[in-house]
Amino acid sequence: MKHKKIVFPVIIGLIGLLTYLMLNIVLAEKTKAYQVKISEKPLFIVKDKSRVEQTIAQFIAEEEERIGHKVNLANKPTYQMVLVTADKLTKPSAIPKMMEESLEMQTEAAQILVDGKSLVCLPDEPAAQLVLEEAKKQLTGICEGEEICQAELLENVDVKVAQVSSKEVLANEEAVTFLVTGNEAPVEYIVKEGDSLWMIARNHDTRVANLKAQNNLTSENLQLGQVLKISSSNPYITVSAVVEGCKTEAIPYSTKIIKDASVTTFKEKQKGQNGEKKVTYRLTKENGKVIENKVLEESVISQPVERIVVEGTRSSGYAMTASRSGSFVGGLSWPLRGAITSHYGTRGGKHTGMDINGNTGDPIRAAKGGTVTSASRAGGYGLIITINHGDGLQTRYAHCSKFEVSVGAKVSAGQIIARVGSTGNSTGSHLHFEVIQGGSYRNPLNYLR
Ligand SMILES: [Zn+2]
Repeated sequence: MKHKKIVFPVIIGLIGLLTYLMLNIVLAEKTKAYQVKISEKPLFIVKDKSRVEQTIAQFIAEEEERIGHKVNLANKPTYQMVLVTADKLTKPSAIPKMMEESLEMQTEAAQILVDGKSLVCLPDEPAAQLVLEEAKKQLTGICEGEEICQAELLENVDVKVAQVSSKEVLANEEAVTFLVTGNEAPVEYIVKEGDSLWMIARNHDTRVANLKAQNNLTSENLQLGQVLKISSSNPYITVSAVVEGCKTEAIPYSTKIIKDASVTTFKEKQKGQNGEKKVTYRLTKENGKVIENKVLEESVISQPVERIVVEGTRSSGYAMTASRSGSFVGGLSWPLRGAITSHYGTRGGKHTGMDINGNTGDPIRAAKGGTVTSASRAGGYGLIITINHGDGLQTRYAHCSKFEVSVGAKVSAGQIIARVGSTGNSTGSHLHFEVIQGGSYRNPLNYLR
């Protein structure tokens, strides 16, 4: 028993000594280092403060280089001395990455405010003005041979100098793209049979030129299944521009019908040929979209050559002849005063209406009172408006430049419903007028008084 009494304190003493020694070893390996905090948040521990300061200086220099302007650090780091073992230290090479997110750099910049809302910042006022000018230019949507008379922004746009986060400062080009296209991500479109760039552009509210540029297209030929990137532009600003231009337009030829009671056939005696005219016009566009179209001057370059056809009336050999000899149904007034440039039933019987010559902007009048049942763009018809007169009678007016009434409107005979144009599959300004009775096309001449 005496033996045990001695052993116990010795063991305790040895443990104490060992612990002391081990603690000493560990303490000896601890080094003096700094806990680095940014915006109160502990980020990492380093041995050398200068490494952190160097990194900050480098970030500031890079940002100043990027925006060409003095940059201040809004949240300077704080250092707290700590004693840590080597494994708690952050490798110097990892420091830049760990600081990048946390540093807040501020700079004096020029904000572009649209209706009071800050949209984008530029290094200085001249840069902001330059960006606005360029965005304006891109949104004017000027075509070849057109000249800008006047352009203005419809929004209240201001440039104000303020302290902002340097991250908000964009390069001029980026800022222009942002203002002009909005920030919508591009969508992908797969080309289907019958697609054309023009149709795709229309359906996505963009322009052929934009599609070509975005997809590096050199021609307008599309392949089935081809994938197109389309960024539907949703500009932050609206440019209202008045432009003047000059273009060559076709003058559609007229068709003279010679009735011959001795034959039954329909024969072309002389081929028609379109003439040409030079048209000087003035357009009002909003972000490139035509809002108003005015012809300033027209001069004929070459006169059209009349098409002459012989229409046999001996029997009902030609369907259109038969319908024309039918009883006068009447009741419609002329939608437009002008020469008939192409009759109903021409083009091998495929012409479903009659063409009346007119100038872009001329008023088109309702042939009879009724209700507007559609006013839209429809393929080759271009802008087309339909009026239902009741009793199974409808009239349609195609290739319009503009509608003057909208769907659902009750119109009276002679009321202006649209303007003459050349939209859709048309070689020159004219009205394509159709009469539909009981679901079939009829010869309008039988209905006009
Ligand atoms: Zn026609």
